[in-house]
Amino acid sequence: MMHFHRYYDVDIVNGPGTRCTLFVAGCEHQCRGCYNQSTWRLDSGAPFTLQHEERLIADLQDSRIPRQGLSLSGGDPLHPHNVPHIRRLVKRVRAECPGKDIWLWTGYQRAELNRAQREVLDYIDVLIDGRFIEAQRDTTLRWRGSRNQIIWDLSKERG
Ligand code: SF4
Repeated sequence: MMHFHRYYDVDIVNGPGTRCTLFVAGCEHQCRGCYNQSTWRLDSGAPFTLQHEERLIADLQDSRIPRQGLSLSGGDPLHPHNVPHIRRLVKRVRAECPGKDIWLWTGYQRAELNRAQREVLDYIDVLIDGRFIEAQRDTTLRWRGSRNQIIWDLSKERG
């Protein structure tokens, strides 16, 4: 079971446009200056149940407040424990919420992702990778906290 800390059904801060945003539990990177230390433990927060998942899908489909897409952050959505759950979720969003984009933030570098983690990339549009490095912190950056982090436009790569 994957745990989560926060779910925002209408969010305009974490990614472009109006979004649904999920902060999951579990992160092994231990970045100095982490803004979200309470999310490090896998068993922190609350279980992300099927009911939560159904609500998230319904929110993305809600035409009264159109959402541009889904943002997945944490913690780390690509923590090995979270990967099967996240893969299932992004597959569902792809199948049931056409036209919605999926952004995902991870502390791993893209080059170091294992096969299971890379499989998730097939179902998302944008990946922001890399640990938060305090010495490279830059508050003028959009969607990332430090200069080492890279915004990968995966949907563009797929053409
Ligand atoms: S990857 Fe993010 S959540 Fe994890 S320790 Fe680093 S800043 Fe904190």
